[in-house]
Amino acid sequence: MIRTRFAPSPTGYMHIGNLRTALYEYLIAKANNGKFILRIEDTDQGRLVEGATDVIYKTLEIAGIKHDEGPDIGGEYGPYIQSERKNNYLDYAKELVEKGEAYYCFCDKERLDSLKDGEGIAKYDRHCLSLSKEEIEENLKNNVPFVIRQKIKEGKTTFVDEVYGEITVDNEELEDQILIKSDGLPTYNFANVIDDHLMEITHVVRGSEYLSSTPKYNLLYDAFGWNIPTYIHLPPVMKNQSEKLSKRNGDASFQDLIEKGYLPEAIVNYIALLGWSPSTNQEIFTLDELIKNFDVKGISKSPAIFDIVKLTWLNGEYLKKMDFDKFYEMTEHIFKKAITKPYDIKKIAEHIKTRIGTINEIPDMVDFIESLPDYSTELYIHKKMKTDEAISLEVLENILPVFEAIENWDNDTIYNAMMDLVAKMEVKNGIVLWPVRTALSGKPTSPCGASEMAEIFGKEETLARIKKGIEKLS
Ligand code: GLU
Repeated sequence: MIRTRFAPSPTGYMHIGNLRTALYEYLIAKANNGKFILRIEDTDQGRLVEGATDVIYKTLEIAGIKHDEGPDIGGEYGPYIQSERKNNYLDYAKELVEKGEAYYCFCDKERLDSLKDGEGIAKYDRHCLSLSKEEIEENLKNNVPFVIRQKIKEGKTTFVDEVYGEITVDNEELEDQILIKSDGLPTYNFANVIDDHLMEITHVVRGSEYLSSTPKYNLLYDAFGWNIPTYIHLPPVMKNQSEKLSKRNGDASFQDLIEKGYLPEAIVNYIALLGWSPSTNQEIFTLDELIKNFDVKGISKSPAIFDIVKLTWLNGEYLKKMDFDKFYEMTEHIFKKAITKPYDIKKIAEHIKTRIGTINEIPDMVDFIESLPDYSTELYIHKKMKTDEAISLEVLENILPVFEAIENWDNDTIYNAMMDLVAKMEVKNGIVLWPVRTALSGKPTSPCGASEMAEIFGKEETLARIKKGIEKLS
């Protein structure tokens, strides 16, 4: 049974890279009828941010990424919060000390500082490795503060990552890292190994920044005599060619995107494609389709760049496909805030639905409906339609009496009236449609055509806007 885990540290917002890790872990588990576990890694007490754990729960819930075990729902392998598993870790570290795979270190800050090189980096010099048994016992008896360090053995360490392939490091490059800190809590480097083993995690999926530490973890698994999990390290998500997305810089958090009007389904779909390519050209996937199609072989080694334009496009596709009633339920309040006049808001919403990337674009798109903007007559000039101010004036003067005479004020009648004028003037459609559209909207673009707009405005407002156009052009 495949078991994956999402192991965030509650240190801030969930940026898109964090959520992508969770999604891939979820997909790998679900594609194999496995289990997806949530574990909160809060042993770095100094970095904890209040409320961050709730953000994690909420984000996973809104994104539809459901965990099978976790702090909030329990499970056979709990507790799922590392700080609550505290005593365990110390026992395991002591086991390694007994086996000669780890050792107590009593070096104080001053001594460690003195080891630092020009760049402030200190590789531990194994000073305490040579302490005698008596010295160690004496120190422990006197409550001298200590840490427990991993004793890295000589040789080379090789492992295979499913994405990055075979990796070998010379153990000389690895430091005798701290496993238990002086506060008695484990470091992340130790806790992740213990927990992944105890929680029977089969596939460790995480950011590629952990690749270089993985040999140390493997030496720990070996020291305990435990099986090493399958590793799937993911390429970083970048905000541009050179900078990584990071929660410390406040980059694109899931919450921000939701507030900017993106749909959770679209965000999830988009981030699935950030670093993974499906075997076909399909780009739009529901979560279920992702489970069916996701394959570790499609994960790329190269960094993925977070592209808001692509996300916006994808979001627009979701809006187009959405059932109208659902769309209206979600956006009615936005329309009603922007349009207080008694127009057919539903009809307006139908036109808007297929033309936006996010629902937050709605207010700007419909602002001309409530009142005609004070526009420049240059809007009447359209090269492709071959319109200019003079011909526009002629068109508006011609269409005004035609519109005044219409009794059945509906889209078809209005459209046919304009087509009659096209025939009478012996011009192309655009010569008539563009000036009318411009007079009605006062904007270079509008969410629907001239006749549709005229139908929404009703006869009185339409005539008023046409007259205003004539006045501006005269
Ligand atoms: N707590 C680590 C983080 O938030 C998790 C790394 C891992 O998945 O092993 O980056």
